[in-house]
Amino acid sequence: MQGLMMNRPLAVIDLLRYAAEIHSNEEIVSVRTEGDLHRQDYARTFERTAQLAHGLAALGIEPGDRVATLAWNGYRHFELYYAISGMGAVCHTINPRLSAEQMLFILNHAEDRVLFVDLTFVPILEALKDHLPANLRLVVMTDAAHSPESALDLECYEDLIAPHPTEYDWPDLPEETAAGLCYTSGTTGNPKGSLYSHRSTVLHALFIAVTLPRSLHEGARLLPVVPMFHVNSWGMPYAAPIVGASLIMPGGKLDGPSLYDLMESENVTASWGVPTVWLGLRAEIEARGKPPSALDQVVIGGSAAPRSMIAFFETQGVDVCHAWGMTEMSPVGTTGQIPNSDSDVTFEDRVARKSLQGRRIFGVDLKIVDEAGQRLPQDGKAVGELYVRGNAVISGYFNDEAATKAAMDSECWFGTGDVASISPNGYLSIQDRSKDLIKSGGEWISSIDLENIAMSHPDVANCAVIAIAHPKWDERPVLVVVPKEGCEPTLQEFHDLMSEHFAKWQLPDDLVFIDALPLTATGKVSKLTLRRKFADYVLPDVR
Ligand code: ADP
Repeated sequence: MQGLMMNRPLAVIDLLRYAAEIHSNEEIVSVRTEGDLHRQDYARTFERTAQLAHGLAALGIEPGDRVATLAWNGYRHFELYYAISGMGAVCHTINPRLSAEQMLFILNHAEDRVLFVDLTFVPILEALKDHLPANLRLVVMTDAAHSPESALDLECYEDLIAPHPTEYDWPDLPEETAAGLCYTSGTTGNPKGSLYSHRSTVLHALFIAVTLPRSLHEGARLLPVVPMFHVNSWGMPYAAPIVGASLIMPGGKLDGPSLYDLMESENVTASWGVPTVWLGLRAEIEARGKPPSALDQVVIGGSAAPRSMIAFFETQGVDVCHAWGMTEMSPVGTTGQIPNSDSDVTFEDRVARKSLQGRRIFGVDLKIVDEAGQRLPQDGKAVGELYVRGNAVISGYFNDEAATKAAMDSECWFGTGDVASISPNGYLSIQDRSKDLIKSGGEWISSIDLENIAMSHPDVANCAVIAIAHPKWDERPVLVVVPKEGCEPTLQEFHDLMSEHFAKWQLPDDLVFIDALPLTATGKVSKLTLRRKFADYVLPDVR
């Protein structure tokens, strides 16, 4: 028997429409590429979004067309999210840190019609001028006064929207209509596109809003450090409007001092980002002796949050929520709050628990399987490949049958490429990406676990553990360390720290110093680049 409820489609534009009416005074504060700080409330943002939708229509954009962005976090980027999807087109966010080759690949693969670009990134396009798709129109995200001289044929954002009315007849779209497109950074092979629907986007916003109330609540002031070009800033631009949180957009200023100043001056209550950015903020907090006054929570995800980083923020009175997810999951899969009923756990227990990747959010199912695809028990011990399914998980890659086939199993679950265990009470422990695990003598060693301990050494600024080929053992771990200035920690010191937690055969065979770790386009440590860099390295016992 069918239920008798209205079947109103879930629509992205309704998130902003709601905020414009109910949270009309909450605002979007943006550090602009023009150099100043800009403020605009949700009511005005909704009006400008309508103007932009008219502007897009005037450019000839039709439902289903892909419209690309190459931009920092800011109010114009936010308006594009809503105007493009609201009119039935698809907002394709491009990561400006991609190589020229990857960028051209995805521009062509997505068949983008228009590309909106921040001032900062115009030179990237100028360098690609002769290779850009011939009919791609370019709009620079500024006003006429700030529009740059360029060899490119650039239109101007403010001129595009200015002539148009502040209301738009937003169409009723089937909720399965595509709303957003984001390619994975493609550390291996070509980038692959995750094509989000209105339904998945709205549901994901609701899921994270109910899961992360400490960050997402009325009056909260949320600073998305994670870029809007990286999986929709983990959903913040969609979730903040419905709960009535303001968004404090940092633009391109993501260094520790700039983030600290912005947090302090804008009373930021919560901020989300990858571990590498928190290293900068941590150094700044240490230098100033206290955290930004209103900062209550940081959400750390994208790669494993080191235990020492979690302990640092918690000692400062800033709650840490460690989250795990993927571009293909919109992206949040698990989050790591300590339940209220467990509030009496010790500080050490708390940090240990938060070092795990947390528990699944509503709307996401997890399973781990062995090499034959058989389910493994969730007993905290069995380690297997992690598969997921859910309302905001991809069912396949955009126009990429081969990648889709490789990623989905026979039960239509998506293979994450991560290797993990799950405890009986639901805590996910990511051991590694399957390609980063170290295989020594037929046994696995988790690079994440070793890095976690190495990071607790006081002389370490950053580190990574990678596999190096060994004639007898297949692979052995080597610790690559960025030492703090003037420090020279020894391998023995690391062994002393690690031997409490690891068997002797799991300890790194060597220690190498490096000035800086290579980062991926999404700001994570690139193990692939590191492995390539050390391709000719020979282990001490083989020399
Ligand atoms: P890319 O790194 O290629 O841009 P994603 O941003 O989608 O792709 O990264 C997803 C991957 O990042 C996960 O599969 C996992 O390996 C890793 N990851 C994300 N969050 C965490 C975490 N909290 N702990 C460990 N690994 C994580």
